[in-house]
Amino acid sequence: MKLKVWLSSPHMGGNELKYINEAFDANWIAPLGPNVDGFEQDIEKFLNGRVKVAALSSGTAALHLALIECNVGHGDEVICQSMTFSASANPIAYQGATPVFIDSEKDTWNMCPDALQEAIVDRMAKGKKPKAIIVVHLYGMPAKMDEILSIAAEYDIPVIEDSAESLGSKYKGKACGTFGRFGILSFNGNKIITTSGGGALVCHSQEDKEKAVFLSTQARDNAPHYQHSHIGYNYRMSNISAGIGRGQMEVLADRVEGRRKMHDFYAEICKDMEGVELFSEPDSDFYSNHWLSVITIDETKALKTREDLRLAFLEEDIESRPIWKPMHLQPVFEDAPYYGGKVAETLFGNSLCLPSGTNLSDEDRERIAKVMIEVLSDKKEYSVSR
Ligand SMILES: *Cc1c(COP(=O)(O)O)cnc(C)c1O
Repeated sequence: MKLKVWLSSPHMGGNELKYINEAFDANWIAPLGPNVDGFEQDIEKFLNGRVKVAALSSGTAALHLALIECNVGHGDEVICQSMTFSASANPIAYQGATPVFIDSEKDTWNMCPDALQEAIVDRMAKGKKPKAIIVVHLYGMPAKMDEILSIAAEYDIPVIEDSAESLGSKYKGKACGTFGRFGILSFNGNKIITTSGGGALVCHSQEDKEKAVFLSTQARDNAPHYQHSHIGYNYRMSNISAGIGRGQMEVLADRVEGRRKMHDFYAEICKDMEGVELFSEPDSDFYSNHWLSVITIDETKALKTREDLRLAFLEEDIESRPIWKPMHLQPVFEDAPYYGGKVAETLFGNSLCLPSGTNLSDEDRERIAKVMIEVLSDKKEYSVSR
């Protein structure tokens, strides 16, 4: 029997167990230790050598702490990209604040700068200045950071970059996650590298990092007994998870290259298909890690629909998935304000995430190509160059 082809599965590098064994040998089985420190340093070095990184239990926890450090509280409003995973928006609700959702633009599928400007002006006219802006680099594609940062600076609103999907991506040569007041990373099982579950907050000062570490370890004041003057959280990364992370950091550059090769593989398959477009960088300012390769199928031009392709994959035990359903269309956020048009909604209706893992075999790729060609090409003959 053929094995299932996954969208994005963990891909170990080989040295993860070495770091875990070190932790066992030294009995560092705790949410602190040499692997946590080492993993943080590896990420700092990878991003630019100047940022300060706090390793946490998840990307969601990192977003929550970023909002707390931006002083987001009850009754505040926070601007958030609509087309994203729910974890980008949920921490706004944890703080008792209201999300204000923004449409995507067509080049990067990320936050539309025009709709962002419109939202800020309108929210301020209604008497509330947004406390923060959460921008996402979806599927690894960098958002239009020049435009977004300049609008944020004009109104003096801090930007939080959700880089959960974009470790290794760059905008104008600079690492995603390092542009905003804070950046967040995720090391969940399906991300480009994983610690089984985990995340990180990217800070620009030691002070911001220390505050995150303090809050993530139950906000314990400096005293011999347990003394607290803040509400704390249990959000620190464990030294075991961080051991996996150190092994994964050794192969991150390879993983980025591998994901980008998967994107090239799909470009080759789709190049002559009518009505089928592969989600790609608009120009050389954008460098995506292509965490997931995504195609858009225009039903008016293509041979079949997005659903036809998804079901054909399913039949062959190949996992594919519609893109994130925009947050402004989610029942849980139906009362939240929204600015923009129907770009995100339209993309949601006709786009599909394709298997993009770096550990797929040639045989897996052949199975994928065969289905795509049978469904979407009128040539029907199957040939992919390797
Ligand atoms: C995965 C993800 C998160 C959440 O990260 P976790 O580590 O799973 O909590 C947040 N935002 C986006 C866009 C993600 O893809």
